[in-house]
Amino acid sequence: MADIDPITTISPIGKLRTCYGEKFGVPRQPGLVEEAWGELTFEPAYRNADALRGLEGFSHLWLIFLFHQNHVAKNPSTNSAATWKPLVRPPRLGGNDKIGVFASRSPFRPNPLGMSCVKLESIDITHPDSPILKLSGIDLVDGTPIIDIKPYLPYADALPHAVGGFAPEAPAKLRVIWDERAHSENLPASLRQLIESTIAADPRPAYQQGNQAPEREYGCLIEGYNIRWSVDGDVATILSCNC
Ligand code: SAM
Repeated sequence: MADIDPITTISPIGKLRTCYGEKFGVPRQPGLVEEAWGELTFEPAYRNADALRGLEGFSHLWLIFLFHQNHVAKNPSTNSAATWKPLVRPPRLGGNDKIGVFASRSPFRPNPLGMSCVKLESIDITHPDSPILKLSGIDLVDGTPIIDIKPYLPYADALPHAVGGFAPEAPAKLRVIWDERAHSENLPASLRQLIESTIAADPRPAYQQGNQAPEREYGCLIEGYNIRWSVDGDVATILSCNC
């Protein structure tokens, strides 16, 4: 009997529905926006409560996923993403300095696989498509295919003395205020908080973060709302929020 090639048999176990309707605005790492939610629904072949038995005892888990929105052409000679480059410009270095792709968490890599440690809020077993994992602290766009999940093991995965290279600590946050024309009082408190935390994490491209352009407007899609804001110094003003 021929062996099965584990490389060519990898396929997603499910899909993540998230609060972020497009890539722009998605936090750059998990946990930066605690309110950012996701719901993992399994493909029918893996929709089996037995496969999750024991997971409820863990507070966090690793998601291993595909950067499916990279939209890059395949290089036929290497069979990998044609546009990956050995050097990338991480936002943490202002978008100017380059480092090696394997020293980065860039989505643009030879194999477009990502990993995020997220919080397991609950497991829904009542939905017709159950089990569904309710997650928070996510950094993924809606529809991201999930390749695997694994429980986060504090004794092995939490390394308090680890050294963080060019990103030793979490990035600075913006202060967020609402323009009265955005009518934030009409939004549910949880959505208001999600929007504020997302904008506070400063999704602007790195090369624009140091430049003063207070008249410039940015936009992103959160829970179906089109959010527009501008930034002056370290203060972001949310200008509008339309469904
Ligand atoms: N924590 C993961 C990692 O380190 O592998 C992801 C880090 S990556 C820097 C996070 C960014 O990837 C997000 O800010 C968003 O712009 C982008 N992104 C999220 N989901 C994506 C997807 N499904 N396809 C392509 N890009 C995605």
